[in-house]
Amino acid sequence: MKIAILGAMIEEIEPLLALYEHETVEFGGNKFYLAKHKNHELIIAYSKIGKVNSALTAAVMTLKFGAEILLFTGVAGAVNESLKIGDLVYATKAAQHDLDISAFGHPLGFVPGGKVFVESDAKLNKIALEVAANLGVNLRPAVIASGDQFICDEAKKSWIKENFSADIVEMEGASVAVACDSLGIPFFILRSISDSAGEKAEFDFDEFLVESAKISLNFISNLVEKL
Ligand code: SAH
Repeated sequence: MKIAILGAMIEEIEPLLALYEHETVEFGGNKFYLAKHKNHELIIAYSKIGKVNSALTAAVMTLKFGAEILLFTGVAGAVNESLKIGDLVYATKAAQHDLDISAFGHPLGFVPGGKVFVESDAKLNKIALEVAANLGVNLRPAVIASGDQFICDEAKKSWIKENFSADIVEMEGASVAVACDSLGIPFFILRSISDSAGEKAEFDFDEFLVESAKISLNFISNLVEKL
């Protein structure tokens, strides 16, 4: 199977490149790292931060490199108070919290022809939960709210929580979900918590990015073994 493994930042991908021997192909302003592992072909990339970059890269991985499924790995801010730094969550569904044409009577996160929440792939989620059980890892389901903003503000965090029943915030999940859903590609989104999206979240982010990114990647490489 051709498996895309996507992150947003180099830190979210780099340890994988040491794990799998790969060749590098440049396309559309990004690097794609191609590796063979067991019966699989892996297409690994970091998209650069944000919804546009990540949707573009997901589309390229699929349409140019032929990815059949996509696994997203990275870090996120916790909105659900029970999530702590280093905790691991997978998306059940994702919405864009900064998509707003509510002036026309539409719900937040909705544009005609789209949907507020895009659901992830139930089969991949089930396999991931089995992998987590085998590893003794607590993998929790989460509703993801994505937007082109780093959330480090209590009021904004509460607003997102109330309007989207979100558990975590980040900047790529929902856009990757829209791209994969539109192209018929099953996807799995994994995030490890790097900060709590409140005041001074940027300091926690800087401190825990590398460690949390590794927690997520470590799980993804275990998941790949089971696919
Ligand atoms: N320090 C980086 C910018 C990081 S932006 C730089 O200077 O280049 C935050 C990244 O981590 C995004 O890819 C996003 O998906 C995720 N993220 C983690 N915590 C977040 C939060 N509180 N709000 C939004 N995105 C967050």
